[in-house]
Amino acid sequence: MKLENKVSMVTGAARGIGREIAFTLAKEGSAIAICDVSEEALSQTKNEIEGATGRKVLAEKVDVTSFPACQGFVNKILDNFGKLDILVNNAGITRDNLLLRMSEDEWDAVLGVNLKGAFNCIKAVARPMMKQRCGRIINMASIIGIMGNAGQANYSASKGGLIALTKTVAKELGARNINANAIAPGFIQTDMTDKLSPGMKEAMLKMIPLGKMGDTRNVADLVLFLAGEGSSYITGQCIQVDGGMVM
Ligand code: NAP
Repeated sequence: MKLENKVSMVTGAARGIGREIAFTLAKEGSAIAICDVSEEALSQTKNEIEGATGRKVLAEKVDVTSFPACQGFVNKILDNFGKLDILVNNAGITRDNLLLRMSEDEWDAVLGVNLKGAFNCIKAVARPMMKQRCGRIINMASIIGIMGNAGQANYSASKGGLIALTKTVAKELGARNINANAIAPGFIQTDMTDKLSPGMKEAMLKMIPLGKMGDTRNVADLVLFLAGEGSSYITGQCIQVDGGMVM
């Protein structure tokens, strides 16, 4: 197993990509702490991971927009497992609208979860990881943060900001053996993309050289690589999992 004796925290892990990441890391031997705002789905994911791996999962309702809530959860992980090796900032939302129609609330909500949420969790784990002199921080960005997208000013700004934040974290914490990388998924089949109109889905598929949507497994496999030993000399990067959509 690739992550034996490691401890991982995954945000937004109740469903979709985060759920797949938590499953994948647990199957590779990591102790798992998961959080989300959707309490019922989170507890279902916890039970399913425990059933499949026999490993006890720490699960708690945490809104990543609150720094005290993130700090509290990290403290609980340290109390339970004694350390924290891998942080996956996966929680994310969309509130799409054209720029001229976008409300301040829509802007603030998306920046709050996607960018400030990641900052909050990174701030909470930085000290314990620095003390340990090792750690992996993996931020779930998006190709929209690289290429922009009409109707997603808030989302594209949050994900572009997250890529920039990743590089700064890599520079600030690299000397303590902490690697920070971002992943930019393209068009992955989850509840988030199920909301798109058939027309929008068709247009997206036309832009993908591999001709199909990605699977949550494709993203989780890259997280596993970035969490493991094989990526120890990779930091400050944003790696795309997009079937060639943006190149
Ligand atoms: P998803 O199915 O909507 O799952 C996201 C999870 O995060 C949900 O359980 C959601 O709860 C939770 N969440 C929302 N706000 C939160 C908060 N304040 N604190 C903690 N958890 C919160 O999304 P997904 O498709 O798996 O996406 C996961 C990540 O990948 C996101 O960052 C997304 O931007 C990124 N991504 C996805 C795609 C794609 O094609 N699917 C492409 C590029 C990037 P609720 O359901 O209750 O809101």
